[in-house]
Amino acid sequence: MTLKTTHKAPQPRLAAAQIKLLERLCNACAVSGDESEVRAIVLEQVRPYAETARVDALGNVLATCPGQGTGRRLRVMLAAHMDEIGFMLTQDEGDGIFRFDTVGGIDERQLIGKPVWVGCDHLPGVIGAKPIHLTTPDERKRAIPLDSLRIDIGPGGNSKVKAGDRATFATPFARLGPSLRAKALDDRLGVATLIELVRHAPTNIDLLAAFTVQEEVGLRGAQVAAYAFDPDLAIAVDSTPAFDLPVWEDENGRPQENIFYNTRLDSGPAIYIADGATLADPRLVRHLAETAEAMHIPYQYRQPGGGGTDAGAIQLARAGVPSISVSIPGRYAHTAAGLARLSDWQYTFTLLHASLARLSMDILSGERQ
Ligand SMILES: [Zn+2]
Repeated sequence: MTLKTTHKAPQPRLAAAQIKLLERLCNACAVSGDESEVRAIVLEQVRPYAETARVDALGNVLATCPGQGTGRRLRVMLAAHMDEIGFMLTQDEGDGIFRFDTVGGIDERQLIGKPVWVGCDHLPGVIGAKPIHLTTPDERKRAIPLDSLRIDIGPGGNSKVKAGDRATFATPFARLGPSLRAKALDDRLGVATLIELVRHAPTNIDLLAAFTVQEEVGLRGAQVAAYAFDPDLAIAVDSTPAFDLPVWEDENGRPQENIFYNTRLDSGPAIYIADGATLADPRLVRHLAETAEAMHIPYQYRQPGGGGTDAGAIQLARAGVPSISVSIPGRYAHTAAGLARLSDWQYTFTLLHASLARLSMDILSGERQ
């Protein structure tokens, strides 16, 4: 599998309003199972453009944008998850100190000393750490187990905070030149992309947009959303890890290639061929790659690695749904702060919009390899 990049396409320009919306989405807190803050923004954004927009039993936002003309049109489901990884308070120990559990895939070694926002009011807190002055040399060699950590909001911090409340890393959105840094770029980049697709829905298809819940704990919202929509095919729009740090030198001073990159920033949207949950439908891989080539949109194939997206649940709905994922690459996924390129995000929207606009029923009669 080769990395495919082309730089023929002009650099896209993002409207300030799109970036502002992404900032709102990233700064909102929506740890799995409590997605209400992001859901409110999504509903506000899609209701003026979608024919229908409703909240289902699990909390997914399901929006429909029917195409135009008579005759049968493809029912195409797009999915982006609203939830993010984070924490759930599990016990109040008094004096503003709480035991907690992680929600979604989090490396516990990264937690100590991190500022957090607690509850829907974003109360400031911290995941406490024993100061270095008091640790022994032996302790400093070992990761602190999760059950020794606490979230501390200070005594009298807020009497409303209780077990069951969620917390997130307290990382405000920031622009860094052509990049952006935020928590929850996974998957607010996808949510922002899907909102934009609803606002500019192609008329050759019926666009079925699912803003899903509980992806980070097992693709749960997507499963019921796909059942409800009963689509002909589906595309999950997500953010995928990039580990494209610079090459390093071996002990002889020779540069070593970093082959663990998964995806690279600045190389455009990542088209999936396979991940831990899905073997992408080859007709959709071909359609997306051909569209990118025809439109001179940079793209890359996601390299092997673990993880899965909503496509893994959608493909198994009802009698099966041809599915694929397209992701915006992001560094430092599932940590306190991720980093992504604005251009990769814009090209992802451009590729998806162009690919949807070129879809016809023929894609389903194409050869299934
Ligand atoms: Zn994700």
